Amino acid sequence: MSPSPTLRDVPVAPDAPDALSRARMRDAFGRTISYLRISVTDRCDLRCRYCMAEDMTFMPRRNLLSTDELVGIAHHFIDRGIDTIRLTGGEPLTRKDIDDVARRIGERLGYGLRALNLTTNATLLDQHAQSLADAGVRRVNISLDTLDPIDFAYITRGGSMDAVLRGIAAARDAGLSIRINMVAMAGFNDHMLPDMLDFCEDGGFDLGLIESMPMGDTGSYRPRSHVAMDEFLAPITRDAIVEPIGHKTPGPARWMRIKGRNIRIGLIAPISHNFCDGCNRIRMGADGKVHGCLGHDAAIDLAAAWRDGGVEGLSPLLDRLMATKAERHIFRIGETGEHGPSRHMSATGG
Ligand code: SAM
Ligand code: SF4
Repeated sequence: MSPSPTLRDVPVAPDAPDALSRARMRDAFGRTISYLRISVTDRCDLRCRYCMAEDMTFMPRRNLLSTDELVGIAHHFIDRGIDTIRLTGGEPLTRKDIDDVARRIGERLGYGLRALNLTTNATLLDQHAQSLADAGVRRVNISLDTLDPIDFAYITRGGSMDAVLRGIAAARDAGLSIRINMVAMAGFNDHMLPDMLDFCEDGGFDLGLIESMPMGDTGSYRPRSHVAMDEFLAPITRDAIVEPIGHKTPGPARWMRIKGRNIRIGLIAPISHNFCDGCNRIRMGADGKVHGCLGHDAAIDLAAAWRDGGVEGLSPLLDRLMATKAERHIFRIGETGEHGPSRHMSATGG
């Protein structure tokens, strides 16, 4: 067994730009990679129809990174120029050590790390909002596809919308900035958009609208409900002016506002508006497998490298990942069916 790797082999203080620029990751297409999403668990307490099958097979628990491994690898990523980390899943708050993970990664805020964010379904957020805020989390993305409790129970296969609303209230009380994420689904929540805009405007939340992506078999036929973003927005754009704003976030959202209203809308449209040219992201699963692209199955195995040789084994693999990161995702979804990676979004985090 190799000695336990130290977590801060290359400490990067905010005033050490030379060290950072030497280590920074850049792919074969010249894109600098500064944003890591970590799926801390592939498990979830809900079963959203567009995301998971009802009867999911999850990765064996023995394959999951331990707290020390997860934090140690995250710190190495920061040493390699990752300045933004999003904790996601599966449902990240179902991981028992999540507060500890957030706190220990958050220790690097101001030391290489600029932002530590979370994506959650919020069912457990009332129990974690304050400790996450204390760990340095400032922004949470919360999935809420509808404001109708019956439709919510349908789309999540049994979830309670009340729990989510309690989570949202707790996040607000803890001072977290909130973005509500809504996956666009024709015939399910397209009529809900005006109510969702009111809900977000009243609460002071951003609204993220996401096109459904063909990832993994869910037992539901996604092409039936898939809708291009422009079409989903039509009920608003018919009657109001929707215009781009300069707001920027680390992810691929294009930000808009509705003239005369006080709300920001982030459009994530990987199918109808490809955004791969500006990609700055990679994703790590709970088993330490790192994917250069959401839309491809190819991955490197950092867990094996860490267990074999500690931190020294990671950098060569990350260099290989940079050399092989795909130029663009290949997602197809439409009348003829769908084509995308075999893994579910929950394995590498949305
Ligand atoms: N459980 C958390 C949640 O639901 O927010 C975090 C993980 S979930 C995989 C992250 C985001 O991916 C959510 O906003 C979810 O709606 C979205 N998502 C899941 N499967 C998707 C798919 N096939 N296409 C588009 N978005 C998807
Ligand atoms: Fe769970 Fe999030 Fe997937 Fe819904 S979208 S099943 S909450 S991981």
